[in-house]
Amino acid sequence: MKKILIRVILPLLVLAGLAKGLDILINARDFQFFGGITHRIDTDEKVVALTFDDGPAENTDAILDILKKHQVKGTFYLIGSDLEKNMDKGKKIAAEGHEIGNHSYSHTRMVFKTPSFIREEIEKTDELIRQAGYQGEIHFRPPYGKKFVFLPQYLSETGRRTITWDVEPETYAEIDGNAEKITEHVLANTRPGSIILLHVMYENRKASLESVDAIIQGLKAKGYRFVTVSELLKLQPHSPSPS
Ligand SMILES: [Zn+2]
Repeated sequence: MKKILIRVILPLLVLAGLAKGLDILINARDFQFFGGITHRIDTDEKVVALTFDDGPAENTDAILDILKKHQVKGTFYLIGSDLEKNMDKGKKIAAEGHEIGNHSYSHTRMVFKTPSFIREEIEKTDELIRQAGYQGEIHFRPPYGKKFVFLPQYLSETGRRTITWDVEPETYAEIDGNAEKITEHVLANTRPGSIILLHVMYENRKASLESVDAIIQGLKAKGYRFVTVSELLKLQPHSPSPS
């Protein structure tokens, strides 16, 4: 019995622990092996960044109209392959003064992928973002928030920052798909310097899209000012530089 414990069960427990640790590391919002990663900034100022992942897709006009109505600039992490198909929508996002970031070309998990695959995913998407007319700095947001060694290494070597988030209402099954609950969660969890993640441009994300109006009104009523991610980074006390 003791032999079985030592030879079989213990190694299995160690492996399970390592796998769990690896999973936590790959998914961590605020840690990676190389370079800068930002999930929020430390500040007492009531500033917040609204970020929208995926697309551009069918509801681009709808989100742009909401932002325009409230004179808010957002940050859009676009998928290269979506942008290629919907370049007119990408051009509109850029023309209306929003920030655009790189969310990879094919939106696959960028873990255990070759360095050349990662380079291609990032560079191709940056090129498409430039074709859309966006001229600001391009930050990167990993698909599903997942990253491991080669991705952060490449981003770091090429001086790109990784941006994640600290407010993610859609992650919770009991909140996702319900505009009122999404709004409530965001209003309750946003702190000065927060980065809010929402998906609003696909047709199946209507509830998230519908929550944006109330989120903006609610946060403005609490005294928040909306900034893009690049503006938020400039407000960080110890100004971040990719290392
Ligand atoms: Zn995504």
